[in-house]
Amino acid sequence: MATPVTPGSPALTPVGALSRGGPQCLPDPPPEPKQLPELIRQKRDGGRLSAEDIRSFVRAVVDGSAQGAQIGAMLMAIRLQGMDLEETVALTQALANSGQQLEWPETWRQQLVDKHSTGGVGDKVSLVLAPALAACGCKVPMISGHGLGHTGGTLDKLESIPGFTVIQSPEQMQGLLERVGCCIVGQSKKLVPADGILYEARDVTATVDSLPLITASILSKKVVESLSALVVDVKFGGAAVFPSQAEARELARALVAVGTGLGLRVAAALTAMDHPLGRCVGHTLEVEEALLCLDGAGPPDLRDLVTRLGGALLWLNGQVEAQAEGAARVAAALDDGSARDRFERMLATQGVDPGLARALCSGDPAQRRQLLWLRVHLDAPALSGPQRRALQGALVLSDREPFSAPSPFAELILPPTDAQQ
Ligand code: URA
Repeated sequence: MATPVTPGSPALTPVGALSRGGPQCLPDPPPEPKQLPELIRQKRDGGRLSAEDIRSFVRAVVDGSAQGAQIGAMLMAIRLQGMDLEETVALTQALANSGQQLEWPETWRQQLVDKHSTGGVGDKVSLVLAPALAACGCKVPMISGHGLGHTGGTLDKLESIPGFTVIQSPEQMQGLLERVGCCIVGQSKKLVPADGILYEARDVTATVDSLPLITASILSKKVVESLSALVVDVKFGGAAVFPSQAEARELARALVAVGTGLGLRVAAALTAMDHPLGRCVGHTLEVEEALLCLDGAGPPDLRDLVTRLGGALLWLNGQVEAQAEGAARVAAALDDGSARDRFERMLATQGVDPGLARALCSGDPAQRRQLLWLRVHLDAPALSGPQRRALQGALVLSDREPFSAPSPFAELILPPTDAQQ
């Protein structure tokens, strides 16, 4: 901190003048950054971390000077003690700044939208919604995640399609947005690397269910995307990270408040996750079900959620006058095949053989199943009798009607209007 200049005190002197024998008044050197054990202790004991404290923790995570045990200890301290709004904003910003900021042509400014989910079972909405939004004229630079805790990851599902490549450079992402209108990629050494490291550490340290860590993880990826509007699907229920609607609402409010604090227009939808979304769980099966939805068919609860989230996003971004109008546009893109066409182009541009992408998107469900196969890995030349029986025993065939879930959509938390800010 600079020495304050008070009446009568000598004026601050440029450093060069001191060597010539001028007045001896130097500004104080900046404080030494705190050591990691001190930062961990401070949070463990319920103290606040300053923005600089948070930046130095994130720097240490990315430059490798933080040991795994220190990262785990800090995550647990945050999980147990929480973070206030200012700390969460600082953490989000520090994670976002750990890599490159994506920049797009000025003419795309009002078209850039995205959707993210806090994680559910059978949640394949992003696979359908990203191309559907592209078909509605949006640009969707979706940075998504692998599975976290018991919830499935969009990237894992896409990687079950042979050839699909989730690591794309910023230049490749721009090419995808130009040619297709959407891409679904993972964080990388260039994109939000700090989130990649913390995400993996949370998965193995019982710190997934932390409100500030989820908020910063999701929003850091979205801040980097330079979006015009974002909808976050916040799950609640028995199969969600937060079982109660009240806890999920708290997370939804934090996402909207932190997003607003960072200049991002965010709405958060609370949606029920008491049972899997749709009828299929498992990467390949979920790709198949996403393709059914892109055919204009598939289970009603999946289509309902895709169209409602898309409708809310188009409305939040000012592209339609009402959410229902936005939902109808998304539904039309599913029914007329234009969303499936974008999905096929995204697959082919992200590394899938174009013939396979074509066959997947044009085939009927039985043909698709031939292309995405069940594979059993074993370290013996053939299955033994007991192994075969154990595998068959894992499958239960029922003649009951398929389960049909009601709409999972419960409420929408909106950002403050200009007049309210
Ligand atoms: N998605 C993310 O990117 N991060 C989380 O913590 C949860 C869902």
